[in-house]
Amino acid sequence: MKIAATPADAPDGRIAADSVARMSVHLVRLPVTGRRDHGIGAVAGAVDNVVLRLDTSDGVVGWGEAAPWPAFSGTAEATAAALDRYLRPLVIGADPSRVAAIMADAGRLIAGHPEAKAALEAALLDIAGKRAGLAVAELIGGRCRDTIPLSFSIANPDFAADLDKVAELHEDGIRLYKLKTGFAGHRFDLDRLAALRERYDDIDLRVDYNQGLEPFDAVRSLRDIEAFRPSFIEQPVAAANRAAMAAITAALDTPILADESVFTPSDALAAVSDRIADGFSIKIMKSGGLRPAQTIAEIAAAAGLGAYGGDMFESGLGHLAGTHLVAATPAITLGCEFYQARYYLEADILTEPFPVENGAVMVPTAPGLGIAVDTAALDRFTVEARG
Ligand SMILES: [Mg+2]
Repeated sequence: MKIAATPADAPDGRIAADSVARMSVHLVRLPVTGRRDHGIGAVAGAVDNVVLRLDTSDGVVGWGEAAPWPAFSGTAEATAAALDRYLRPLVIGADPSRVAAIMADAGRLIAGHPEAKAALEAALLDIAGKRAGLAVAELIGGRCRDTIPLSFSIANPDFAADLDKVAELHEDGIRLYKLKTGFAGHRFDLDRLAALRERYDDIDLRVDYNQGLEPFDAVRSLRDIEAFRPSFIEQPVAAANRAAMAAITAALDTPILADESVFTPSDALAAVSDRIADGFSIKIMKSGGLRPAQTIAEIAAAAGLGAYGGDMFESGLGHLAGTHLVAATPAITLGCEFYQARYYLEADILTEPFPVENGAVMVPTAPGLGIAVDTAALDRFTVEARG
């Protein structure tokens, strides 16, 4: 592998034509509109993410976002260090079109840090797409869908506020809703399901425990939930409780989705062989990019499992990468949850609103990720920038 830390460090003092000349890592703090509770923790005030900018020597700019959540996977500070200190030498001076080679090197260089790798791969694909005049979906197989049904997560501990939000979103055409459960008791979960079913007969309800249920007596609790006909129940128990996941999957009629249990293609293979779920929530922030996420979707499809387009607390930039993934991956049929940019952040960092119409995400067609980053907004939310 080449590579010089900065253009000045290159052997001849120059960066080759069309190679990556500059890498900027922005630690950002994005204010959110309210509190959201989950089985493994809460989000309130702001989310800390990392935005990556790559500039090529011929003036092409590529963008990517890393959205770790400390309770789920990792921290923004560690992600920024992974990019700035460990991946920077791999990237500066590299030919950005060699996406697979760079990502394979990144995988050998640092273990874990999937969000950092997802940001790097998105930025490289953004450059490749802009160069080729193709949207990222076209680069990773070609689109099989132009719109993706959007799911909103109901996670406000103040359920009255959530009901107001659902009324507003229902008006906007959103019909998929995922109720976050397992953080304030079983009765609260049942009451909210009853209230939603009573008010709306045309919505597709899903349930996500984020590991919040104790395995002991879990099946009986889930049978109560099942009475409200959710389309699926996501990650009822802790990721480490694989036997309980398998027992629940075997016991219930409702499909069980694995989220925290499946980060990588290897996790997906083990999940299939142990049948710990009926489907996967697929996220580029877990898999380390679009290509490994597609591998997980193919494993799910080959095993007869379902697949859903999950995400973390991303801005529109992270959503764009996920959108191209779902657009180009036939197996991801259960919709997506790229709602945060429009319905949770106080402000996004894109130059245009993240595209949602009639309850669905519209897949961009412009080259690369399809929508540019608003650099003034990025600067406003940047806490620390390196490079
Ligand atoms: Mg989940």
